[in-house]
Amino acid sequence: MSVAGWDKAGGVYYGRPVFAQGAILLAVADPANPPSGGLLAIAWRFSNLVRRPLTLSVGWFGRNSRVYGMLFLSELTPLKSDQATGAKRIMGIYAMTGGATGIGAELKRQLVDRGHQVISVDIVEGDIIADLSTVEGRQAAIDGVRQRAPDGLDGFIPCAGLPPVAKPLSLIARVNYFGVVATVAGLRDLVAKKRGSILLVASNSAPMITTDDSFVQACLSGDEAAACADIEARDGHTAYAGSKRAITVWMRRNVVEYASAGVRLNAVAPGITMTPLAEQVLADEELGQAMKDFGEMTPWGGTAAPAQIANVMRFMLSEEADFVCGSVVFVDGGSDAMMRTDDF
Ligand code: NAD
Repeated sequence: MSVAGWDKAGGVYYGRPVFAQGAILLAVADPANPPSGGLLAIAWRFSNLVRRPLTLSVGWFGRNSRVYGMLFLSELTPLKSDQATGAKRIMGIYAMTGGATGIGAELKRQLVDRGHQVISVDIVEGDIIADLSTVEGRQAAIDGVRQRAPDGLDGFIPCAGLPPVAKPLSLIARVNYFGVVATVAGLRDLVAKKRGSILLVASNSAPMITTDDSFVQACLSGDEAAACADIEARDGHTAYAGSKRAITVWMRRNVVEYASAGVRLNAVAPGITMTPLAEQVLADEELGQAMKDFGEMTPWGGTAAPAQIANVMRFMLSEEADFVCGSVVFVDGGSDAMMRTDDF
């Protein structure tokens, strides 16, 4: 049985009840004695509380001086109009990693608030708990998403990342580069099914390391053991910025192939954003002061809140951005323009 409904703003919903209780079917089943009252229903959407598009409905009507009631809980998915055809379509289903805190948590909140379904993979909290630094964890993430979205994804956002202060340094390579490439490759066909979008999370530190750096080269060649061995002998800044350089170059090198398969590939490059990741760096004896100094030089001033990054990411994932392909969008208050004025 399907349920349809609409809200004050003209949004149309459809779905299936996940729980129903009441006397309505009994009463309507007696045509010789039809109800004298009408059916009123009030619905309360509480997706904010449970992170699922659930609606609680209460209905009642009167017959023979009696009042009958019903209660049902439905999982309703908003429909939206396709601008070209006017047809109603179900809102998107997205998968992401790193949805537990920071930028990822904010993006997830924004997508869910707009009626999208989000499947979240993370090491601490989410629909799928997986450690993306390991081959098994990456496979568990891919399998878990495939199980939950067999009909395809509108988007995938591999947002999980480790800061330059993470130890050992090889973990940064494993999560920030190899975990991203593996999950993107493993979910690509699901995104292609819906002509969706994959949005990588780079950094405005990526241009600080060159593509010919040995660590970046090892990442790009797909040799995880060599990349990990290389970075263990180096420093946190090179590990972090190098992993972000590598993922950005990987994105640019794969744009044509992914586009021809029906996937829009892009990257966002945030500047300093106040999240648990940035707080760990700021608290670090070695890198903390450098980060503070860099933040103070931001042309537009200050640091970003997670919402300032997530707003742009949500736009890049949306249909409004469906000709944005292969782009690295810096959301950094002008720092990259200040550092690389003539390069873009
Ligand atoms: P964050 O620490 O708040 O979030 C990172 C998320 O990744 C967390 O939910 C964490 O649990 C998850 N994660 C870490 N290791 C994992 C693993 N092994 N397996 C699965 N999940 C794991 O940090 P954030 O600042 O929100 O970072 C989000 C992304 O933005 C990262 O890719 C980061 O590199 C990037 N970024 C952040 C900044 C910044 O200043 N905060 C700047 C540029 C880019």
